[in-house]
Amino acid sequence: MRILVTGGAGFLGSNLCARLVRNESDHIYCMDNLLTGELGNLEPLMKLPNFTFIRQDVIRPIALDVDQIYNAACAASPVAYQRDPIHTMKTSVLGIINLLDLADRCGATLLHFSTSEVYGDALVHPQPEEYWGNVNPDGVRSCYDEGKRAAETLCFDYRRMHGTRVKIIRVFNTYGPNMKPTDGRVVSNFIRQALNGEDITVYGDGSQTRSFCYVDDLIDGVIRMMNSPEELTGPINLGNPGEFTVNELAKLVLEKIPTRSRLIRCDLPQDDPRVRRPDIRRASELLGWMPRTRLPDGLEHTIAYFRRRLRGGLQAG
Ligand code: UDP
Repeated sequence: MRILVTGGAGFLGSNLCARLVRNESDHIYCMDNLLTGELGNLEPLMKLPNFTFIRQDVIRPIALDVDQIYNAACAASPVAYQRDPIHTMKTSVLGIINLLDLADRCGATLLHFSTSEVYGDALVHPQPEEYWGNVNPDGVRSCYDEGKRAAETLCFDYRRMHGTRVKIIRVFNTYGPNMKPTDGRVVSNFIRQALNGEDITVYGDGSQTRSFCYVDDLIDGVIRMMNSPEELTGPINLGNPGEFTVNELAKLVLEKIPTRSRLIRCDLPQDDPRVRRPDIRRASELLGWMPRTRLPDGLEHTIAYFRRRLRGGLQAG
């Protein structure tokens, strides 16, 4: 099979490519504009005969012949996606239109990476797929949230109008190797800060919650979804239902990294969701999927990756 992974140099995309290249009879086309993705994430893959890197933005039309398309293209950390919100919206909307057109032309299956952000500041907890969300259309997070919501709409409109083969997963907070130490997310910030002896920046009072999924578990679910029966379009939540406050996460990181870092309180960003936890009954019933990695274990692997990376002087970016 010929498989296209957009956003393939990013955190999730590069982990997905690393898993897909193991099947040597498939050819993986990895596309990325390198705005937030990094070539370093692809270093082990670049020399493989079944791997091709293409530097291109998904907002430009794509000429390829493929059987499967994974769309993981979009800046995903709040700091990164708010840097150029207009481009973030274009990535979601123009990107998915280009990919849906490509899927239509090739008869390919398109799996779109949507997000728990479609639920916004959720009023239902945990969040099942039937929940329509509570999203501010005009705030600083809207470029991402509304862009991702529009992309879901387009997937279903293409399916209704053209019969396009689409599948949608909603990814909850995920962490692990190939995260960028400077992407501004809570896991990467806390680990980087603890390793560098910097203050640990807790936003607000730290009582807001998130559920953190280890990347290997997530990729497992993603591949199961792609290869599920055609009528299974989703959306399907993928995430780890273990829920932690930001304060609990800080404590866990500090237990694992001997450091002189102190906790400091910073302002809570605008529209920061209060709580987040996936209801994963659909994924478990329909895909037989369940995350296996406990947060303390996943953090060990992630800390080891950050140590190697910081030692190698690759902190910038
Ligand atoms: N957060 C924090 N300190 C940081 C970065 C993030 O307290 O240095 C908080 C943030 O306010 C949010 C949670 O951690 O409540 C998760 O933030 P992240 O940016 O990782 O992703 P989000 O789930 O908000 O998209």
